[in-house]
Formats: sequence, structure tokens, C-alpha cells
Amino acid sequence: MDNCIFCKILKNEIPSSTVYEDDKFRAIMDIGPIAKGHVILLAKEHAANLLEADDELLAAALPAVKKVAKAVKKTLGCDGINVLQNNGEEAGQTVFHFHLHLIPRYADDNQEILWNPTSPSAEELAQIRELLS
Ligand code: AMP
Ligand code: ZN
Repeated sequence: MDNCIFCKILKNEIPSSTVYEDDKFRAIMDIGPIAKGHVILLAKEHAANLLEADDELLAAALPAVKKVAKAVKKTLGCDGINVLQNNGEEAGQTVFHFHLHLIPRYADDNQEILWNPTSPSAEELAQIRELLS
């Protein structure tokens, strides 16, 4: 993909800070970290997002996330880690090349990941379940 910034990073056409690499993924430091040690795991194969990614690639994604998460936790001593993955502009995706965020969390980080629970009725939940099942 000629215009994809992550493809360019993966071809070393633009600089990045690599923290992990295997045959399917490369983890780099996020250029706009929301926490100390915010890393993004980039698929080496271009797919716009999870819905378009190859199943074999997806099967390898969580073991790679686990490896990087463990290294981040051990090295930085964070108290927790959010793993986030955005699909589509409305979901907050800004770079349309499949990647996952690993966001270390610290007891005193004052960081908020937006999450506003709603209170649908039992009927509404049942209707949606009906549509989805
Ligand atoms: P998303 O909003 O889920 O698509 O995430 C894209 C992420 O890529 C953002 O957190 C950006 O800060 C990050 N990003 C964009 N360009 C670069 C870059 N050149 N190097 C490292 N991270 C980048
Ligand atoms: Zn790409």
C-alpha cells in the first residue's frame, strides 16, 4: 500500500523505534503515547483492520501481544495493560493498517480510556441478542 504510513515504517522508509519483531508482526513505540511505554503492534501484512485481516495472522496476534505485554510489564513495572484495537473511523481508527495498542497502566497515571456504560432494558438487550444470534 503506497500511501500507508505503517507499510512505510515496515519497509524502513520512515523511522520508528522497534521493540519487538517476528515474522508476522513488529512492535514499535507509539509516536503519541497516552502512557509511558505505549506500544503498537503492527501486522507486517497490510490489511485495513481486523475485519479484513487474514485468520492465520489473527491467530498469531494474541501470542505476540502476550509476549510484548509481558516484556513491557517486566521492564516498566506497570500495574496493568490495556490492549486496544480500533476498527473504522467511528471507532477511533486513524491509521488503516491492522494494529493493536498495548497501553501500560500505572496506579497513579490519571489516564482515562473513554467508556460510558448505558442502561438498556432487558427487552432492548433481548432484541439485539435476537438480531445477533
Ligand atoms: P489508531 O487510532 O488505532 O489507528 O492508532 C494509530 C496510532 O498510530 C496512534 O496512536 C498514533 O499515535 C500512532 N502513529 C501514527 N503515526 C506513527 C508513527 N509514524 N510512528 C509511531 N506511531 C504512529
Ligand atoms: Zn499498510
